[in-house]
Amino acid sequence: MALTALISVSDKTGVLDLAQGLHALGVQLLSTGGTAKLLAEAGLPVTEVADHTGFPEMLDGRVKTLHPKIHGGLLARRDLPAHMAALAEHGIATIDLLVVNLYPFEATVAKAGCTLEDAIENIDIGGPAMVRSAAKNWKDVAVLTDASQYGVALEELKAHGRISDKTKFGFSVAAFNRISNYDAAISDWLSSVDFEASAGQPVPQRSAFPAQSNGRFVKVQDLRYGENPHQSAAFYRDLYPAPGSLVTAKQLQGKELSYNNIADADAAWECVKSFDVPACVIVKHANPCGVAIGADAGEAYGKAFKTDPTSAFGGIIAFNTPVDAGTAQAVGKQFVEVLMAPAFSADALELLKTKPNVRVLQISLDGVKRDGASAWARGLNAQDVKRVGSGLLIQTADNHELQLADLKVVTKKQPTEAELQDLLFAWKVAKFVKSNAIVFCQGGMTLGVGAGQMSRLDSARIASIKAEHAGLSLAGSAVASDAFFPFRDGLDVVIDHGATCVIQPGGSMRDKEVIDAADERGVAMVFSGVRHFRH
Ligand code: 5GP
Repeated sequence: MALTALISVSDKTGVLDLAQGLHALGVQLLSTGGTAKLLAEAGLPVTEVADHTGFPEMLDGRVKTLHPKIHGGLLARRDLPAHMAALAEHGIATIDLLVVNLYPFEATVAKAGCTLEDAIENIDIGGPAMVRSAAKNWKDVAVLTDASQYGVALEELKAHGRISDKTKFGFSVAAFNRISNYDAAISDWLSSVDFEASAGQPVPQRSAFPAQSNGRFVKVQDLRYGENPHQSAAFYRDLYPAPGSLVTAKQLQGKELSYNNIADADAAWECVKSFDVPACVIVKHANPCGVAIGADAGEAYGKAFKTDPTSAFGGIIAFNTPVDAGTAQAVGKQFVEVLMAPAFSADALELLKTKPNVRVLQISLDGVKRDGASAWARGLNAQDVKRVGSGLLIQTADNHELQLADLKVVTKKQPTEAELQDLLFAWKVAKFVKSNAIVFCQGGMTLGVGAGQMSRLDSARIASIKAEHAGLSLAGSAVASDAFFPFRDGLDVVIDHGATCVIQPGGSMRDKEVIDAADERGVAMVFSGVRHFRH
């Protein structure tokens, strides 16, 4: 008996080829209005669902396929005589293949100016109902919800006259995933609508935190293990990743990414993205151990490496600018775990091939650059999520960008123009260093990074010691502190080692003591008014 396929798709990509292939195999085609029209125009024999059910599409398409002739044909178990008898009694034919993709709800709400009414009209009802019916009855019905599945289905039909159970089960799982993601998108979006403000109007800026948080993640890959070998792990991405985010990376070569690689690559990438001139960031254990800007990637790398050559060993290196052969060669001299950039020249890639273990990631920065601003935006809905006990802590990303005009000089001594530039650079880096963060910089490069200590004093000491070990002079350097100095002791340490200007948020009970100390020792201090804790 000939198989029957029901095809009902909003996104018609690839559907004609599929329908032609099915027709060539003798499969009967059943279809809803728009899809049927497309198939008929291509000369394919197709029966409209309305003719099949004897019931017209109605209510502007809200009711097209919600009919026992459709759902009976999808849900009946072919192995149960009672089911088959019921179909016969009611004159219902079986449907063996269902091809559906849903009204474009996600794309609709992503458009500027989308109203509540637009969004509601784009909630598909009959499509998900059919997908669920078919996916539930996966043994008897193959359900295709994505164009990427068309080829597989056709090939198996061509080769064996049927689709294997394994493939059908896979299609069923993918179908339930799709429905789950679709419903989550609807629920998330509706939860964020301000009802009063929404009548007939474009729905205002989404609340960053809907009442429900159904945000779905899609598995990218299983990982060999987690942070440690006895932990298992997997990598998931947001259903709708922000442009230029780590998950959009394309791996060009190298071993599989590990859990720690991914975490560190993200830290490096987010940091390097924050510069609007060529920059290089080297990360180890989630902290930058060298950051620099330069005329090009090569110069930035050379400076960043100098900060802490010891720690840079086995580091993650990120550039916000194309990597040329010279830079690839320089980087190739050190042990590097991951190398990432928006582009690599052909000869750089050739050179990197001689280091096959190096994981090379290319991440496009298209769509990331903000108009007119001197920074890379982190994506609209970027959120930081942290798992605690049986809950989640969610916050907007720390994407505050300090401008020169925000700075308040609090000391008698004014910073020079060059010092101001160093202070802004140091501040930018400190934001990406685990608290307590103390960062020495000069001339667009880090000189010493003190990270992750439980006291600011210790971070100050460590940053100074590291600069000394790297043979770097701190005389005339700028220092950033991610949060205020609670006492003058931390400040004294950085001045003892040569700092001549300091940036910090201010806001301590002892601000006066700290400002007096700066004045007493003749250094310039500016308040940023913003804190950058990072845990
Ligand atoms: P077509 O372009 O063929 O007229 O419509 C295809 C779309 O209609 C598909 O996205 C499919 O999911 C959707 N669809 C199929 N049946 C129904 C129904 O009964 N109600 C609604 N709202 N959508 C349906």
